[in-house]
Amino acid sequence: MKGKVGSWIFEPEFECMPREKLEKLKEERLIKMVNYAYDKLDFYKKRFKEAGIKPSDIKGLEDLTKIPFTYKDDLRKNYPYGLMATSMDEIIEIHCSSGTTGTPTTALYTARDVEVWARAVARCCASIGLRKGDILQVAYGYGLFTGGLGLHYGGQKVGAAVLPISSGETERQIRLARELKTTAIACTPTYAAYMGEYAIEKMGIDPAKELYWKSGTLGAEPWSEELRERIENLLGIEAFDIYGLSEIIGPGVAHECQYHNGSHLYEDLFLPEIIDPETGEHVEEGELGELVLTTLDREGMPLLRFRTGDLTRFTTEECECGRTIGRMEKVLGRSDDMVKVRGVKFWPKTVEDALLSVKGVSTNYTIVIERPKLLDVMTINVEPTKELYEEVGGDMSKLEDLKKEIAEKVKSIVGVSAIINLVPVGTLPRFIGKAKRVEDRRKIT
Ligand SMILES: [Zn+2]
Repeated sequence: MKGKVGSWIFEPEFECMPREKLEKLKEERLIKMVNYAYDKLDFYKKRFKEAGIKPSDIKGLEDLTKIPFTYKDDLRKNYPYGLMATSMDEIIEIHCSSGTTGTPTTALYTARDVEVWARAVARCCASIGLRKGDILQVAYGYGLFTGGLGLHYGGQKVGAAVLPISSGETERQIRLARELKTTAIACTPTYAAYMGEYAIEKMGIDPAKELYWKSGTLGAEPWSEELRERIENLLGIEAFDIYGLSEIIGPGVAHECQYHNGSHLYEDLFLPEIIDPETGEHVEEGELGELVLTTLDREGMPLLRFRTGDLTRFTTEECECGRTIGRMEKVLGRSDDMVKVRGVKFWPKTVEDALLSVKGVSTNYTIVIERPKLLDVMTINVEPTKELYEEVGGDMSKLEDLKKEIAEKVKSIVGVSAIINLVPVGTLPRFIGKAKRVEDRRKIT
């Protein structure tokens, strides 16, 4: 399937701009943005004062590090309108984080911001080959989550028809995909895998043969190459990674091209930096660190040096597709999602890498961490694939060898031993939005 979906470039004048010219454009936009944010927001006036700098001190990209960081917590503290840089007259759309971990945050868009957002997502949609005549099935949640509407705007911008089905109601997703002949799918990777399994197991439909999806733009959670391969085989599509975050704009900050060697980050709109999360200093190009973004074309809620918490690498090396804008690696995890078990730090995604490297293991798993006495105990609940489960007639005792194999893989890839609990197919929860796989039952010590 790779490279056969007719990827194209939506805005070559920006995406393929000579690097030198691009750096100049970024610089001009940064200076403008710094002055705008300072003039319009008391928050930045205060931050600049505390840091002992004035907007006039920012004369070029080399002065970027003088600007203090903006944190997610700053957005919470300024909920709901403390970071609104225009009057409410100018705002035409408001998104809101769920706030499950505390105060929610808002994202505020002017008409221009929505247009910039649509253009950014249109670049993503062109990458997956969408054009006039295509039908994009948007199975991201519509509503306060930016996934649904973001893909909606981008899909329409490239001239495709959009099916705004939102997430959930899987049976209807499959039925409409087949009846309406939708040609591409947008949802979380977890949900893409779930839809594929559901179609086969519950509806007797082989999505790779009976649906019309050619490509998918999948994101909103970290996912492994093993899961990509499974989804591609299951759905018969070419699967692309999309990256974004509501604080900056929503989905559409970065997207893979047909070479799948990282996601092109739209640097003319979002200025990236990679820092050491502990020291805040820049790391060398190509090294792992936390992604920091500055909005370069944003009116409603401009953000300077926003700490995304996402760990990745960034490179400006040439790409075969012809785009000159840099590429970020698939996000490894969030610095605050990292799990520490018996002193070993890792991201849950590493466990997924280990599980899916074993044949006969499904994408359905959860991780439970406890501390019954003094030592941490990690249990991985995982379902075998349906084929294997049927092969043994549902008798889990026949899968002892598989259990051992999984345990060995986890130990070697993650670096921590775990209790492997193989459970019957259909036991574990299915996720239609962002997957919540880790349950940490340890008391905070
Ligand atoms: Zn490329």
